[in-house]
Amino acid sequence: MAQQDVFELAKKLFYRYAEPLNLDARYPGCDILRRLTTPDRSVECRLTFQRDDGTMQVSRAYRVQFNDDRGPYKGGIRFHPIVDLSETKALAFWMYLKTAVVDIPFGGAKGGVAVDYESLSLAEKERVTKRYALVLRDELGPGKDIPAPDVNTSQREMTWILDAWRMIHGRYERGVVTGKPISMGGSHGRRGATGRGVVITIAEAAKDMNLELPGATAAVQGFGNVGSTVARLLHEAGVRVVGVNDVGGAIVNADGLDIPALLEHVQAGKPLAQFPRGEQIDRDELLVMDVDILVPAALENAITAANAPRVKAHLIAEGANGPVAPDAVDILTGRATRVIPDILCNAGGVTVSYFEWVQNRQEFYWPEQRVNEELRRVMVGAYRDVADLAAREKITLREAAYRIATERVAEAAVRRGVQ
Ligand code: NAD
Repeated sequence: MAQQDVFELAKKLFYRYAEPLNLDARYPGCDILRRLTTPDRSVECRLTFQRDDGTMQVSRAYRVQFNDDRGPYKGGIRFHPIVDLSETKALAFWMYLKTAVVDIPFGGAKGGVAVDYESLSLAEKERVTKRYALVLRDELGPGKDIPAPDVNTSQREMTWILDAWRMIHGRYERGVVTGKPISMGGSHGRRGATGRGVVITIAEAAKDMNLELPGATAAVQGFGNVGSTVARLLHEAGVRVVGVNDVGGAIVNADGLDIPALLEHVQAGKPLAQFPRGEQIDRDELLVMDVDILVPAALENAITAANAPRVKAHLIAEGANGPVAPDAVDILTGRATRVIPDILCNAGGVTVSYFEWVQNRQEFYWPEQRVNEELRRVMVGAYRDVADLAAREKITLREAAYRIATERVAEAAVRRGVQ
């Protein structure tokens, strides 16, 4: 089957949700729908770096600055072999909708390099990352476009970009990236912020569904930054996390996995699927386990029309970006599965990135408790706005989140004027 274009699919879904808003009639002559679905700028460039054996490797690097009507571009950097322009555009598109749903003053962007990053040595990783900052030196900046971690990038890569920026521009600008370590101007609470935000939205949705979290069951797909934090916080909330997986396999335990022990196991560099206190199952069977809550926190298109009819969870929290493929959206709605959409569910990361950027601009740093309280305030407020609209209009949480975001960006775009 031919691979579907991720960005075209993302636009199709957007149009479907934007249509009832009658934006073209409300803002005549503004070509508003096309404006909201056309990236401001897409950069695709060659990135050449030296391997440890002295040979040169050529990769493609991307940065899509989708929309800055509500503030500077903001979005993560992904290093993965399947990164391409269409995926980067889709991720940048979702990013500006996400910053609008939680109402923080940023636009949306995304970047990446098509490279098998995990196979590189530490020195090669640093070279790739700093090259990325170099080839995009004119695009990035604290008032312009602010990257953050995404798949295969972390505090380490953000520090390398900060350092490259200092060398290229000859001055320190801590706010050029977020997701930095505390010692480099990072924010307390940023590392776990996306997962924490996911769990805050799960708790709110559970209240609406009369689902008691203590004793409920959950499965988490992906055990990286987002998935491992979600598993830990659900476990702390009394949820029985009965299954987790990563790219290498899945592990299940009907009594609930000992998540702190699993975290130690993985942090010691051992394969997740070889955790001794659980049973191995086929990696992708995790998605159709009989659980109350399913958290896909790996990559796009985990749930498609092929496996959606077998999904048994009542609540799906989209920790990843785009884990439910557009062709699976209606199948889940038809089965009355409540889905907390990515642009709301995983917005905790960019929210604390915003707090980090604010702290960098003021060079005044907040204690973790303040960060977590502000995060809770933003996430609960955004969830309630979305859930209330969904209940009032009898639409899904996804449609409600898209409507709120689209309204906010459209208004900002039109207010800018036409000259
Ligand atoms: P990460 O690189 O830390 O972890 C990714 C995890 O997914 C790894 O455990 C990997 O083994 C696993 N994985 C990959 N393919 C898999 C597969 N087919 N089946 C099962 N597991 C698989 O990445 P992350 O930062 O945790 O990001 C995960 C998702 O969350 C991505 O979609 C990302 O865009 C999204 N996200 C991340 C953040 C953030 O702050 N890190 C913020 C918002 C959204």
